[in-house]
Amino acid sequence: MKTCLVVDDSKVIRTVARRILEELAFEITEAEDGRQALAACDASVPDLVLLDWNMPVMDGLEFLKALRAREGIAQPVIVFCTTENDMSHIRVAMEAGANEYIMKPFDREIMEAKLSQVGLL
Ligand SMILES: [Mg+2]
Repeated sequence: MKTCLVVDDSKVIRTVARRILEELAFEITEAEDGRQALAACDASVPDLVLLDWNMPVMDGLEFLKALRAREGIAQPVIVFCTTENDMSHIRVAMEAGANEYIMKPFDREIMEAKLSQVGLL
């Protein structure tokens, strides 16, 4: 079973993402901010990280940079989540090492399309 770490400070978003990804046969873990997510990746690197941008403690970009700087660990596929109002974040996130991005709110169809683009479905 493939694994996905869902990183978002919104419990609603995490719940929606979990439901969709479980239907797509992923095993889910959750983190509320970048620091929790880094700790989760240090314990066990998932196949996929679904990453929010705005979060307290450590935001998505800081997490992305810190994870991509880790040497000697397997690197997950990172799909960054953004909103239409934050389109400018996309280029920054891709340059920092995100593999793909997805617009919120997302549904199962959009998620499936993105995950097949990155080779996870
Ligand atoms: Mg957020």
